[in-house]
Amino acid sequence: MDHYQVIVIGAGIGGLSAAAYLTKAGIKTLVVEQTPFPGGRCYSRVINGAEYDIGALYVGDRAPEILQTVFGINCAFKSYRMGVKIGDSFVSVPFDRRTLRELHGSGVTWGDILCFLRRTPNLFRQSYFDRHRSVGEALDSLTSNEVIRQMGYVLFGVSGISPYSLPSSYLRMSGDTAGTRIGNPVHILGGNKHLADSLVTFISAHGGHLSFREKVKRIIFKDSRAYSVVTDKGQYRADYVISNADIRTTILQLSRPGPWDDPYLREVNSLKRPLALVCVFLTFEPSFDLPNEFGAFFMPGDSPGKEFQTLNAGQFPERSTFCLQVPTNLERRTVENHRATLQFYHPRGSVAPQALKQQVHKVMTTGLEQLFPGLSGRVISYTVYDPSRYEQEFGLKPFVFGASPALNQRRFSPQTSVPNLFCVGDSVLPERPSVPQAMESGILGAQKVLKRMKMTGDRRASCQE
Ligand SMILES: Cc1cc2nc3c(=O)[nH]c(=O)nc-3n(C[C@H](O)[C@H](O)[C@H](O)COP(=O)(O)OP(=O)(O)OC[C@H]3O[C@@H](n4cnc5c(N)ncnc54)[C@H](O)[C@@H]3O)c2cc1C
Repeated sequence: MDHYQVIVIGAGIGGLSAAAYLTKAGIKTLVVEQTPFPGGRCYSRVINGAEYDIGALYVGDRAPEILQTVFGINCAFKSYRMGVKIGDSFVSVPFDRRTLRELHGSGVTWGDILCFLRRTPNLFRQSYFDRHRSVGEALDSLTSNEVIRQMGYVLFGVSGISPYSLPSSYLRMSGDTAGTRIGNPVHILGGNKHLADSLVTFISAHGGHLSFREKVKRIIFKDSRAYSVVTDKGQYRADYVISNADIRTTILQLSRPGPWDDPYLREVNSLKRPLALVCVFLTFEPSFDLPNEFGAFFMPGDSPGKEFQTLNAGQFPERSTFCLQVPTNLERRTVENHRATLQFYHPRGSVAPQALKQQVHKVMTTGLEQLFPGLSGRVISYTVYDPSRYEQEFGLKPFVFGASPALNQRRFSPQTSVPNLFCVGDSVLPERPSVPQAMESGILGAQKVLKRMKMTGDRRASCQE
């Protein structure tokens, strides 16, 4: 059995960040990834001859910042604004003076805006959230203006695909990574794959090992500690295990029977599966005029709260909230067609193929027309990936571990009750999940491993840290 100081299960952006941190500290690390690619839900793949980001669309500038400050990796990116269609106009994020002017331009009175701004300090107080049952309810009490509320819902991600721009400290949740800043939207030039690829290069350059197309089947325990990792290709001995597979998979499938007590198992078991997204990869005519400072557009549906209820009940809402990312609007000169990725929520469970078809049709016609009149007629091609096709072809589930509208969502610490088993990635984050937070959690997991190594007297680790 090959022996590693740390085995990282999964080469998602969280697992790679953990492995990069450990290899930098001189730790003998192996990353085992089930798919042929790194990056997990933050990567780019070729679909119909063009390259698309298949998961994260809105990447905050904190991601390239972490690469730079923690690993010294420079990743080329471009800042942009994200346009939210409200009524006939766009209100944009990052939230700043321009947003306020745009809110006013879309019919909100300065009086309403001032009143809202005066009340926003409430968002920083935990006691404020304690008085409400949901983020939506808390927001509703800040303003009665429909447009501002709509914007608030979007910013909080309550309505689904979030622009992830508000600091997580706004939510009534706390934890190790609660202070993580997501940052303003950036487009990673050439696609999100560069984030993961640069970490893979870093890991290899620092003597780390990566194995792709290898699936971890089980974690074996000995004396209440993780002892080895069994894959479909063999078995590895590990001093520490960091799992980037989601916490349910890690605890309930990979490590059964494990040394878990019943309450912990029940808690993990009670975690509701997150919602998945439908991804549509499309091209449209480059002559179609888009406001070119925007890299992505957000079209809110009817009512965020109602949309979640309908999705939870297993149905599509009348009007889906959707996000349209158009990277070629920022890299326009290099392409023949506009390449865009559109995402909207899939209902919980499975739906009839006909219902999916109808909803896609609605989004691609009425939805696109509401976003930009004339756009639906300029679409050249589109390919739909519902969650099952996504999983079949990419080997991943398009889950978004988003903050639910409810405020009592349980989150876990990366440290499990087994001293040498850690979970990293967005399924354990105590608040808003995203690419930068998955990276932060990986780094945090790695730091905890190094600390434990130090405590338990692994001198090699402590002197190289
Ligand atoms: C469609 C979609 C849209 C999104 N939009 C945004 C957005 O706009 N902005 C944003 O910041 N975030 C967004 N997210 C969320 C973001 O992509 C994730 O938070 C982040 O990529 C999670 O990274 P991770 O490392 O935690 O997990 P993952 O990316 O899921 O990585 C886990 C890795 O572990 C591997 N693995 C799992 N089990 C095993 C096993 N048994 N053996 C070996 N390998 C295994 C998987 O193959 C995968 O590569 C989106 C996600 C999706 C799906």
